[in-house]
This record gives sequence, C-alpha cells and structure tokens, in this order.
Amino acid sequence: MGRKYRNRRLMAVASMLVMVITFFWYQSAVQAYEIVVDGKPVAQVKEREEFLTALEEYKEQLSKQSGYPVKEIGKIEVRESKLDKQRLENDINKVIVKSVKLGTPGYRFKVDGKSLFAVRDKEKMEQLLEEYKSQYLTGIDENAEIKSTDFKQKVEIEEALVRPAEIWQWDRIKELIYEKEREARIVEVDKGDNLWLIARRYDMGLDELEMLNPDIDPEKVFPGDKLVVKPFDPKFDVVVTLENTISEPVPFETEYRKDDSLYRRQKIVVKPGVEGKQNVTYDIAMLNGLESTMNVVNTQVLEEPVTRIVRVGTKQTVSRGGQRNYGVVQGRRVSSGYGWRTHPITGRRSFHDGLDIAARYGTGAFAYAEGKVTFAGWGGGYGRVIYIDHGNGLQTRYAHLSKINVRVGERVDTGEKIGAVGSTGNSTGSHLHFEVRQNGSTRNPWNYL
Ligand SMILES: [Zn+2]
Repeated sequence: MGRKYRNRRLMAVASMLVMVITFFWYQSAVQAYEIVVDGKPVAQVKEREEFLTALEEYKEQLSKQSGYPVKEIGKIEVRESKLDKQRLENDINKVIVKSVKLGTPGYRFKVDGKSLFAVRDKEKMEQLLEEYKSQYLTGIDENAEIKSTDFKQKVEIEEALVRPAEIWQWDRIKELIYEKEREARIVEVDKGDNLWLIARRYDMGLDELEMLNPDIDPEKVFPGDKLVVKPFDPKFDVVVTLENTISEPVPFETEYRKDDSLYRRQKIVVKPGVEGKQNVTYDIAMLNGLESTMNVVNTQVLEEPVTRIVRVGTKQTVSRGGQRNYGVVQGRRVSSGYGWRTHPITGRRSFHDGLDIAARYGTGAFAYAEGKVTFAGWGGGYGRVIYIDHGNGLQTRYAHLSKINVRVGERVDTGEKIGAVGSTGNSTGSHLHFEVRQNGSTRNPWNYL
C-alpha cells in the first residue's frame, strides 16, 4: 500500500466522523422546546405536540366549567431550542397553570385608568351605575332638564379577556360602588334649637341644611330630631348638571321727584309700582346632591315692571354715584322682591317676606320712621337684626346687619342710623333685608318706602 492511498482513507473516515458528530450534536440541540409567553421564555418542554394538546384540553375543560369560551391572554409561542436541563419541566400541566394566562370574554371596570374588577354582563354593570347615580336626582324639580349625570372620576367599562379571579360577585361590586369615604355627620336637635341656629353653628347656609334634610319641615323641628349637618363623602362622586327655568317677579324701580312744597321727610306716592314677570333660566351643577354652582344663563322678561313715582321733600337724598336711596339704606338695587319665589333646584316655592336691597358692606341702615327698638341682636336666619315698633301695629325689621348701634327699649328718630349692612345669618351677599309688618303679618315693603 502506498502512503498516498492510506492518507486518503484516513481523510474519508475523519470527514464521516465530523458528519456523525454534527448530526448528533444537532439532534441534542433541538431536543427541547421553549415556551414563550408575550416574548418572555417561561419554561422548556420535551414535546411540542404534547404541550399544545395539553393546552387545548385545559382550555376546553375551563370552557366547560365556566360556560364561556376560554382563550389565551397574550401571545404563546413554542420555539425549538437547545436543551437546558435546569429549565426543563416534565409536568406540562404545571407549565400551563403557572405561566399561561387564560381568560374568558368580559369587561373590566376601570376607575382613573386602574382596573378594579371585571364582570361578564356589561349591561347589568351599566344598570348598576345608573341606579347609583340616580340617587342624586331625587329632590330635583321635576320640570328641570337634567343635562348630564356623570362620575367625577373617569369610569370605563372596557371589553377584555379576563381571568376568572378578576370577576366579582354583584354583591361585592355593589358594596364597593356604594362605599363611603366618610360617614355623614348627624346631630340631635336640642331644646330651643331651630334650623337657623343649627346652620349657623355648623357654618353652613340654611339652604344647604334643608337640602341635606329634605324630609324635615323647617317650621317643625323638635328636640331629639336628627339632622345631617355634613353629608357623607362617597367613593364615587356624581356630578349632575341641569337647567331650570323659573318664573320670577321683576322688582319695580322707584323714581323720586323732589318737591319743595313738601316737608323734609314727607313723601307722596304719585303712582304705585307694579312688579313685572320674567322667566329666568339657571345653569346648575351639583356634586353628590348638593349645589356647587348656579348661574343665570338667560332672562326673558314677559312683563316689564311699572316704575313707582314718589314725590319727596327737598331734604331727601335721591341718588348718588350709582347708589339709590331707599330711605332705609343707600343701595345698588333690589336683589329680591317681596312675595313668592321658587327654588331653582328643588322647584319648591317659599315666601320672601321682605325686600332684599343689595348694598355695600358697612353701609348705614336707617330707621324707617320714629319708633322704639323691640329687638336688637342675633335672630337665626336673619343674622343680626333690629325690630322697631312705630305704633299703630306697624313694625319694621332690618336683617343681616354687620353692626347694631341701638339697644332694646331705645327710641329712634326717622332716618336715624341704627346699624350697618352685612351678610350675617342666611344670606348669600351683603344686603339689607327690610321687612314691614302690620299687626304681625308681613306687607310689601314697597308700599311703605
Ligand atoms: Zn330677604
């Protein structure tokens, strides 16, 4: 045998060997399959088909149990891979249960982007939310147009594949929706209490107190009765916007004409005033059943008021710098007349027994005529108030004062300064509430000014 020939044989054996080794190396390299969930390797399995079959069986079984089709959440891949004994899992079901997320079609309830729970029945969930919101519609005037009923929080019901554990029972959902972050504060009525005193004690308006206690008759509050003075704070805040058109009187103006022939404080009504009529449309927003904003968006005058004309003595000041002399106060305008008015939210009618004259805080309040002070002090909703008896059953009242300059029993002269305008008691701004009573019953103050 020649040397050359031997070398050739050796070469052939070597290349065969390389081929065999490569083949076996390759075989061992694909002896595993990597399970990849959403791009993340979770475990290795030996058989691809075995895994896929087990997964299908598991889905079918869950599907039967729940009665809904079961699908994988996320993307599941089975990739050929080099065996890594550390990561090889022989129990395929364990891989499925541990790493593969399965879900059924449902809806996630999300608040401000965060998922709280899931439901299967979207309509039932929507109905539950509507029911919850509707509790804040009670007590609103039935003629009002409800424009929106929304959650303050961003609430979404989003279609998704959900895991059985995410799905809550309705009882539990209801409990969460109706949860209160703070309970209401309830107080018991004491002897000698009235709504005005209670409202003042808890630093709230009378309107607010009445809205918090819709079943209470303000005239009939007895010791032992329980009143809500601070509403509960719900987990889910509801904002209701509405529009309501209220028929309101238009107060008439008074024109004073100087007359030299009259005495200093003498006045003669030449022409009586007549109130007009108007429809006022309010845009109202309420948070959890309480007024948060109220704006007038439209005023439609149906009947113009008729100006009252009065002849006055020369010493009477008529008007000065946008202010008008109403005798008892220098004011800007009459903000509310005498008589019936309707609450823009509740639609309830109540009687306003005086004249509200908007005036600067601290402006003097003057006695209507000479008389004797019969009350001077705090008078509930009136705030600081003065009563003056003028004889012949005539009494005048000056309410919401910031300051009182007179004492009970004191005699006052016509036009004497008795106090200063304020906003005490049940008042929404600086004004004088001027009231006239004849033998105990109220009269339209316009007929006396
Ligand atoms: Zn008033």
